[in-house]
Amino acid sequence: MAHESKSNGQKVFDLSNYNEKYSDEQKIYSGTWVPCRICKQIFLRVRLTLRFCRTCGRAFCEGEHGSFTGRGPGVCVRCYKTRGGELR
Ligand SMILES: [Zn+2]
Ligand SMILES: [Zn+2]
Repeated sequence: MAHESKSNGQKVFDLSNYNEKYSDEQKIYSGTWVPCRICKQIFLRVRLTLRFCRTCGRAFCEGEHGSFTGRGPGVCVRCYKTRGGELR
């Protein structure tokens, strides 16, 4: 399936599923908003974000499903738990 970006007049966003070849990290770096993967998978809701996890390359929503230091990519709650709750 071809990569597809849409615009609502303000932000460019991409609601397609996570793509290994074109990760959320890459999308976000190109200025595209993507849905929090955890919200989408667990709650079936779309919450657009520009935050992504450095470990798995997936987008997360700030505060609820990951943390962002303000100095670079953060970590999602899934990877945070995998690492034993240690933020680096
Ligand atoms: Zn979320
Ligand atoms: Zn992650």
